[in-house]
Amino acid sequence: MRPYHRGMNIALIAHDRKKDDMVRLAREFSEFLSRCRLVATGTTGGRLHDEAGLEVECMLSGPLGGDLQIGARLSVGEIDAVVFLRDPMTPQPHEPDINALVRACDVHDIPCATNLAGARALLGELSRR
Ligand code: PGA
Repeated sequence: MRPYHRGMNIALIAHDRKKDDMVRLAREFSEFLSRCRLVATGTTGGRLHDEAGLEVECMLSGPLGGDLQIGARLSVGEIDAVVFLRDPMTPQPHEPDINALVRACDVHDIPCATNLAGARALLGELSRR
């Protein structure tokens, strides 16, 4: 993992049935997240702004290409960590995009939490640095 610093770039994405969890998580870590540069897929970002009071740069909605936009940024070194709360029980129309983003994390060795427990562990670790 690359060295972290204050003001790191974090991407936040949640599938529909995980969006309440994402808002809860963001409130839990709001002090840390408010010091980061946040980017999110469209609907997730809107909820984080409205319900957790965070400043978030919103990409397109996931099914319209938002995951790919985040993957493109990540691939050129502009994203330091990803929280992607995936819904493993619901088929997603943009499954290839989701896989592409997670693959980009693996290619570039960017930490990616895909469930709530992993997200708490990751944000907890980053917030202590
Ligand atoms: P959304 O996209 O935040 O726009 O709902 C998330 C996703 O489905 O990948």
